[in-house]
Amino acid sequence: MLSYLETAEGFIQLAQMKFDESYANWEILPNGVQLRMMDIGVLEVRVPDALVSKPANNAIVISCGIHGNETAPIEIVSRQISQIVTGVITPRVNILYLLGNPESMKISKRFVDINMNRLFQQAYLSYERTPENQYELDRAASLEGYVTDFFENNAEGTKTHLDLHTAIKPSFHKTFAIRPFGQGTIADDSKKLLIALGIEAVLQHNKESTTFSYFSSETFKAEAYTLELGKVKPFGENNPEDFKLAIECLDVLIQHQSIADTDTCKLVEYKVVAEIMRNSEDFKFYVDEKVENFTAFPQGYLIAEDFNYNYRVAFEEESVVFPNIQVPVGQRVAVMVTKVNDESKLVRSL
Ligand SMILES: [Zn+2]
Repeated sequence: MLSYLETAEGFIQLAQMKFDESYANWEILPNGVQLRMMDIGVLEVRVPDALVSKPANNAIVISCGIHGNETAPIEIVSRQISQIVTGVITPRVNILYLLGNPESMKISKRFVDINMNRLFQQAYLSYERTPENQYELDRAASLEGYVTDFFENNAEGTKTHLDLHTAIKPSFHKTFAIRPFGQGTIADDSKKLLIALGIEAVLQHNKESTTFSYFSSETFKAEAYTLELGKVKPFGENNPEDFKLAIECLDVLIQHQSIADTDTCKLVEYKVVAEIMRNSEDFKFYVDEKVENFTAFPQGYLIAEDFNYNYRVAFEEESVVFPNIQVPVGQRVAVMVTKVNDESKLVRSL
């Protein structure tokens, strides 16, 4: 196993091969760091006591490829693992690396049958199983199991989960983080971490969800984020320069070095103010579906109309994220967000 992982593509190659049970045995590197592969795309790194950053042993889950065509994060993770195996980097925190959806990676698709980032927090139990969907239902369940074991075995230190993505849709903020509901206000250290990762904006979610980062946040009180690091491209076409900050910061994080001290005001904070729902066949959406995420609209702008309802921008400015007009009646068409610091400027439009 280690001979594969010495190369920058090794973790990606292993995820495309049949799993060998012998990979599940701990391997020890010359510096004492231990690794084992528990499943396809599931690699645990354990740091011996002598290397542990005191006072407590911290634990980080770094996941990628929950959407199989989001190749840059998969390359970043595979490269970092090779640097650990070859001794270029000595980790000082315990790490669980997860390549979320190897089957969809093999076919260069976002998913095989279901969007896996809707299946966590046991949402996989609420689907009727079919031959098509069972791979992703089972995979989400087993990923939850690996994260549970890992965080339970590392109960004392701080817990972090960074779920790395890239997006198809263009965005006004080229990079952004989604902070799951229920974590409260963002500490300055967390803002500095996000800025160091190259993140421009953070969107605070306003309700429970079924994403991987929500699962870790809700179940283990982990500092957890879904991170959108840039644009989707096929394997081999990603420019490492585009992801330089994220790559460097992840190296800093696993070596338990200090994160650069920066002005936290650089991070633009958003919160959800409304969800636009399609309630009838009469629904009309006055935003071009092709607009960039975080495109802002001024107060009073008519966003949507439906039977007995309309939505106009209430804050001085609101931005549209994740617009998708092609949804059936009863589902969400878009999310309206506003900058947190603009909250005082609220004037209800009547
Ligand atoms: Zn994604």
